[in-house]
Amino acid sequence: MKPCDSEQVVAVIGGGFSGTMVAVQLARLAGTRRCRVILFEKGNRFARGVAYGTTCEQHLLNVPAGHMSALPDEPSHFLDWLRRHDPDAHAGTFASRQQYGNYLEELLGSTAGTSPVEIELSNDEVVDLVEEPSEGSITLKTARGNSRRADHVVLALGHAPPQDPAGLVRPGHLPGYFANPWNSGGLEGLDPSDPIPLIGTGLTAVDLVIEAEARGHRGPIHAYSRHGILPHRHQAAPSRVHSGHTDIAGMHTPTARSLLKQVRSEARQWQAEGGDWRSVIDGVRPVAQTLWRGLAEPERRRFLRHVAPRWDVHRHRIAPQIDDRIQAAREGGQFEVVAARVLALEVDEATRGIRMRIRPRGASEDESRVYRRVFNCTGPSRDIRAGSSPLLKAIIRRGLGQPGPLALGLDVGDSGALIAPGGRENARILAIGPLLKEKLWETTAIRELRVQAADLARQILS
Ligand SMILES: Cc1cc2nc3c(=O)[nH]c(=O)nc-3n(C[C@H](O)[C@H](O)[C@H](O)COP(=O)(O)OP(=O)(O)OC[C@H]3O[C@@H](n4cnc5c(N)ncnc54)[C@H](O)[C@@H]3O)c2cc1C
Repeated sequence: MKPCDSEQVVAVIGGGFSGTMVAVQLARLAGTRRCRVILFEKGNRFARGVAYGTTCEQHLLNVPAGHMSALPDEPSHFLDWLRRHDPDAHAGTFASRQQYGNYLEELLGSTAGTSPVEIELSNDEVVDLVEEPSEGSITLKTARGNSRRADHVVLALGHAPPQDPAGLVRPGHLPGYFANPWNSGGLEGLDPSDPIPLIGTGLTAVDLVIEAEARGHRGPIHAYSRHGILPHRHQAAPSRVHSGHTDIAGMHTPTARSLLKQVRSEARQWQAEGGDWRSVIDGVRPVAQTLWRGLAEPERRRFLRHVAPRWDVHRHRIAPQIDDRIQAAREGGQFEVVAARVLALEVDEATRGIRMRIRPRGASEDESRVYRRVFNCTGPSRDIRAGSSPLLKAIIRRGLGQPGPLALGLDVGDSGALIAPGGRENARILAIGPLLKEKLWETTAIRELRVQAADLARQILS
């Protein structure tokens, strides 16, 4: 038993937005409690993560500044920060993702500098957790061979890395294939006139097009996906705000099909009244977690198969400036979206490049194209078992936690506490962010994560 005035040690694993904000909130909320936070990050920068660690300054946020505060109780916190750096910024500004990373870094630094809570930054990867029942604590083991003890552990590991499209690539057999374009530097050293093929037409593909353009790439860029649909753009300013989705929010025992039908019908009706469908989607967002929780498991599977791709395309939108550039590249002939299934990638013996076999939508025959490099832009994997995280593997192997039935995330209780096989909730190991996807579905945007971080900190300190 620990004496009640002893120091509480909280280990936060992952220094992206979620982990950073748990550390910040612990420091803000600890009051007179003695608490120390160890924030682990395996990458080379804290307070960035995948999204805000981009090296391309032309990558913009896909949410306007007025909605990007990291602090739920101070809605204009980011906008105020941005205005100090750019007096012309306003609530509708789409700031750069690098700027947002700077904001988070400053927030972490200033909080650590003024709070009595010590925030220790450890640039190390946590690879294993061992429960110490007699001590009432957890031992963390790191890739650099260190062992640390903590009273609570927060898993803020972020998104699973992208998964290779089914059966397409045998790992290690395809030089020039970039499985994860977020951290591969795959555009480095590419001949500016080489064609660039992207598998996927979502947000990652848009990022690659913008980065290639920023690097002065002149060659063609081909993006492949079954339906060939790019993300939609945000409205410059909503003309009319759609309020009250009582019909959707109040649906009892919804099914994937009934949800789709209801959203479609409301969008049609709203458009007939002169509104924009985006307002309807935005109106569903606040109740999306409740709707997901109301779906039985077979319906969740149906949702993933039939509805999720459409939901993602309408829900994850891009800044108007980014869309303008994408459309200009399409109209200028540099960027082409190809509706096709990518069937195989193999070494082209003649050129030592990659031969991509595709079946264009509606065609009865396959086509082949040869590229020097190929980029997998299919986005984060929806199966947490697919990644190679030694820590997740250790957690599952040791029976400290388990994937949910759909493997979208870990099995967690309402508080975010891991549920071990057998059903025991472990209040010492808590998860945040994309790891909660099985429980919440919508758990990646700042508006959700900032609330989770504050709630988790309160719970740990209580
Ligand atoms: C390209 C992109 C753009 C986005 N833009 C927006 C936007 O404009 N607005 C918005 O609201 N949301 C946006 N999002 C959503 C975004 O996911 C969240 O905003 C947020 O960044 C997720 O943060 P996270 O900390 O949970 O995960 P991550 O950012 O993935 O961070 C997890 C961190 O944990 C570290 N880590 C993992 N395992 C270990 C380990 N074992 N030991 C130590 N460290 C470890 C990783 O290195 C990583 O830095 C965007 C997402 C992406 C991918």
